[in-house]
Amino acid sequence: MEITEIWQAALGEMEVILSKPNYSTWFKNTNLLSVENSKAIIGVPNAFTASWLKKKYHQSILDALNKRQPGIKQVEYQIASRPLPETTKSANPSALPSHPVPKNKESNGPQFNLRPDYIFDNFVTGPNNRLAFASAQAVAQNPGRAHNPFFIYGGVGLGKTHLLHAIGNYILRHKPKANILYLSCEDFCNEYINSIQRRATAGFKKKYRNIDVFLVDDIQFLSRKEGTQEEFFHTYNALYQKNRQIIMTSDKLPRAIPHLEDRLSSRFGAGLVADIQPPNSETRQAILRAKAQGKGWNVPNEAIEFIALNLKTNVRELEGALNRLVAQALITGQEITEEFSRRTLEGIIASSEHKNFSPDTIIKSVAKFFSSNEKDLLGKSRERKLVRPRQIIMYLLREELKLPFPKIGEILGGKDHSTIMHGHKLICSLIKKDGDLNNNITLIKESLYGAE
Ligand code: ADP
Ligand code: MG
Repeated sequence: MEITEIWQAALGEMEVILSKPNYSTWFKNTNLLSVENSKAIIGVPNAFTASWLKKKYHQSILDALNKRQPGIKQVEYQIASRPLPETTKSANPSALPSHPVPKNKESNGPQFNLRPDYIFDNFVTGPNNRLAFASAQAVAQNPGRAHNPFFIYGGVGLGKTHLLHAIGNYILRHKPKANILYLSCEDFCNEYINSIQRRATAGFKKKYRNIDVFLVDDIQFLSRKEGTQEEFFHTYNALYQKNRQIIMTSDKLPRAIPHLEDRLSSRFGAGLVADIQPPNSETRQAILRAKAQGKGWNVPNEAIEFIALNLKTNVRELEGALNRLVAQALITGQEITEEFSRRTLEGIIASSEHKNFSPDTIIKSVAKFFSSNEKDLLGKSRERKLVRPRQIIMYLLREELKLPFPKIGEILGGKDHSTIMHGHKLICSLIKKDGDLNNNITLIKESLYGAE
């Protein structure tokens, strides 16, 4: 097998095991440089990625490589920028980080988990995220005192993880001795389960109860994990009582997280809760300009405007489009015009906008969001927990697919068109008054439009 094939296959495997953001953050710009005797050398874009892969994914990488090429016993990580054509050397799109960043402590400290390129200085603010940003700064300047806990929620790719790391980086710079721990809630769950299997829960408890600043990403992952919720509850209380700062992010408001104990959701919502909404057109342009500038790219306004006009819901997607555009321009040697942007980004835009989802996709998304059963949603039960999601389906089928009311009735298991009209009208009016409902619908729409 060719070396590139081996790596492609290994990447395929990693893509399956990891969440999409994790996969793209850590494996996007990697390649297999050589396999000699029993040693594989993997090229990575920067030292941070090297340490991270080594620390978190070493075994999985080794396993994946061994499946294709048995006998590999050792894996080393080497910093190597992605090979690009000659002319592009000056502006390598994979170069990271693009800003001066605080230097992390030596590898093993918990601070090591912070991404040095996610800082306040390169976070662009607008009406969509101003409250979250200002509160994050207040928390960072006054950990344990300003707002505790601090809870940030919003859709995918809107900067929650960025802000979380920025708080950690800021505190680290001003209080280098602070014990700061960033981790995804998924990691917390896995680590807890491992500690039970290894009968090492005492060590686990000790580690978590000594943290000064606890940054937990994607807390919605606690949903349905009863045992871990119990442990998290105790960790939370232990830290909170000692006035340690707790910061969480989520895709939903605390009480909208399904299957989360009340004692947790009430605590999560007891400090400051701040949302991040999708950016408006001006903010999208400002983000793109900042990203381009940060990387030293000279991207004409018409291209920035084109991207901002066509991609609306997800900042990660904006960044992806910008990177693609610049890489393509470097490779082909063409000038970045609006026309060039249109051609290059056609695919990304189409997949971001695809309005071609079916009624079934809407039903599935709503069922998934509320953790309810699709059949029950289409059935006749008047249970409260089914009625509202069912009305949301009516609303989305009407608003997003413009289906006639009788047709919607048919799709929903033979309901009268007046029932559908009533449901649709009710949601239309509730949306204006009920912030939670409004947010939930925004999130469902994001999932429909494949924000990620
Ligand atoms: P989330 O955790 O909400 O899904 P991330 O924090 O991972 O989103 O953000 C996705 C990408 O978009 C990151 O590369 C982040 O740096 C960037 N990003 C999001 N919002 C902003 C912003 N306001 N300014 C600059 N970059 C942003
Ligand atoms: Mg995130």
